[in-house]
Amino acid sequence: FAPWNDPNEKPLIQFKNVTKRFGDFTAIDNLTLDIYAKEFFALLGPSGCGKTTLMRMLAGFEMPSEGQILLGGQDIVKVPPNKRPVNMMFQSYALFPHLSVFDNIAFGLRRSDMPKDQIKDRVAEMLRLTRLEKFAKRKPHQISGGQRQRVALARSLAKAPKLLLLDEPLGALDKKLRNDTQFELMDIQEKTGTTFVIVTHDQEEAMTVASRIAVMDNGKLIQVDTPSGIYEEPNSVYVADFIGDVNIIEGNAKVVDGGIEIHYAEGAAPIHAKTDKHITDGQRVSYAIRPEKIAVTSEPMADRANHAHGTILDIGYLGHLSSYFVTLGNGQKVEASMTNSRRLSRRDFTWEDNVWLSWTDTAGVVLTE
Ligand code: ATP
Repeated sequence: FAPWNDPNEKPLIQFKNVTKRFGDFTAIDNLTLDIYAKEFFALLGPSGCGKTTLMRMLAGFEMPSEGQILLGGQDIVKVPPNKRPVNMMFQSYALFPHLSVFDNIAFGLRRSDMPKDQIKDRVAEMLRLTRLEKFAKRKPHQISGGQRQRVALARSLAKAPKLLLLDEPLGALDKKLRNDTQFELMDIQEKTGTTFVIVTHDQEEAMTVASRIAVMDNGKLIQVDTPSGIYEEPNSVYVADFIGDVNIIEGNAKVVDGGIEIHYAEGAAPIHAKTDKHITDGQRVSYAIRPEKIAVTSEPMADRANHAHGTILDIGYLGHLSSYFVTLGNGQKVEASMTNSRRLSRRDFTWEDNVWLSWTDTAGVVLTE
């Protein structure tokens, strides 16, 4: 299900030329973005790029200096936070320590005019959804960190908001629990059909949970795409470098039959690359290639368009894969990685080994900015 691909689908949220200034500092710079109902949308970017400011404007805690924010086609800029069908879950969870899990979840409902028996049913439904039935009577200090996280989620969803904003929702959990909880979060998002917008520092987390990711820098959107779009087709060196490991090689392009050559070092064979972009002769380009797209073997692989000979400088063993840091004859350093179960050569490489790197002409991305 990809609502952003459907021309008949209307966005749930629209930022239209939104700028937010704090004094003379521009935190959000003329930003335009559509988010669709039922999306799990991630905002990703370095500290200070404006992610939280964007969320706070959605929640109604900040007003844009310029531009419009529409929800379901209505301008919500002047609508106060408590009148928006929007809820925000904070990293600290902000649970009431003296209230039971049940009462924490019921808190917001009791402040509405919902009848008592309906509140009971709704809380029971939230307890089921987050698998907390057994813990309803406990206080927050009597449950685990992961369970507290689920209570906070249940409480945020109790009033059935159209939009839930999650600010680093899993930041307090350790790695293993965090991974498990990511799948729970996806499951709950799908079951409730609520639109989730998540802020995270963790690019792997964004890749795992999100249907689409916005990569931000300095108050601007650099790329908005699906996780695989961002990873496989980054639109800039910034995005390629921000997500995952990548080799960036700069050089001058030469247009040839069926693609381009990238001349990057005196005496080195040029890189053969295919690209949809319009490149002119002599144009300065960056070539981005992921380590896992490069094979490491003792002999060059005949069916690949690109080969380079080098020496292993360092090896990182990660269990499922090994990373090889290779210095080419021309001094260029390249990282290549191979899963250990699929290693093309039976033999293990070690430091100082001479090896061949091979990759296809479609393995890398040609970037012009
Ligand atoms: P982090 O990942 O560290 O939370 P972020 O991407 O969420 O960062 P924001 O909190 O949105 O960044 O802040 C963006 C910029 O706006 C920062 O440079 C911040 O210092 C500035 N800023 C945010 N709120 C205010 C404010 N109330 N007054 C002045 N400057 C602010």
